[in-house]
Amino acid sequence: MIIKSVSQLIGDTPLIDLQINVPNHSHIYAKLEMFNPGGSIKDRLGQYLIQDGFNRGKINDQTTIIEPTAGNTGIGVALAAQQYHLKTILVVPEKFSYEKQTLMKALGAQLINTPSAEGIKGAIKKAREVEANTPNSFVPMQFENPANPATYYHTLAPELLADLDRPIDAFVAGAGSGGTFAGIAKYLKEHHSQTQTIVVEPEGSILNGGPAHSHRTEGIGVEFVPPFFKNVEIDQTLTISDDDAFKQVRQMAENQGLFIGSSSGAALAASLKIAKELPENSTIVTVFPDSSERYMSEHIYSPNEQSTEMVSR
Ligand code: PMP
Repeated sequence: MIIKSVSQLIGDTPLIDLQINVPNHSHIYAKLEMFNPGGSIKDRLGQYLIQDGFNRGKINDQTTIIEPTAGNTGIGVALAAQQYHLKTILVVPEKFSYEKQTLMKALGAQLINTPSAEGIKGAIKKAREVEANTPNSFVPMQFENPANPATYYHTLAPELLADLDRPIDAFVAGAGSGGTFAGIAKYLKEHHSQTQTIVVEPEGSILNGGPAHSHRTEGIGVEFVPPFFKNVEIDQTLTISDDDAFKQVRQMAENQGLFIGSSSGAALAASLKIAKELPENSTIVTVFPDSSERYMSEHIYSPNEQSTEMVSR
């Protein structure tokens, strides 16, 4: 296969039928989103947000793109913006991984760090300030832009149905902006209303109640209910501890040769939990958003060395 642009490598990722013991002889299938060229599920979103900005007349060839991000969306946006030679400014809470921040800069983006204690809300506020001071700028704003769930509704969700020859009994996915979960869950319910939709959050995320606090699982967890959740049926919200998520991260490397990030570990822990409640031989589908390789600086495989400094999304 010869390609002319890395953008041609976005999407159509493999779906793995995990060869692990699942309660009730069920199967867990995981979408391997680390195989996108920027290394995560958010390459799909970056491409979609920039295209949508052009289509709506919000972007021209002189526009500066500004976006608050935990990192993966920043990498996806910077990749897409690069194709059009657009200047990109990404606003990132400072504790997010060194690797993700380095990749954003390598793609030519300018980074602005905000204090970790202010969480993603601090980054959103700062992005709006930068927008106000930058002529011809555009903030795609993944946290409220309907193009976010639409990305997954139109790309990843149909890929799942094309790959599987049987109905999906349960769909499990973590939520940061909520776009992945909302877009896919809506599509799956429309095609098979019995599919149970399960959203995953780390401890310290607010969906199951309780105050927001920091956690080590990176990429998921919310400080406010994602607006996209208004348009989708959620059957259950499962809260997974950092320890349970990181345990699955280690086991996937040891047993399956898969280098998954901590949000993937949380998704797998939740899938195993839900399998106990489902009938025999159920089909469970989940998403592994990125790889452990962008969390080496955070000692993802050595829990005892993990920093006590925590991220909040
Ligand atoms: N996992 C990782 C590693 C991520 O970077 C993100 C996006 N922040 C998610 C999960 C959650 O995706 P979404 O924003 O679509 O809820």
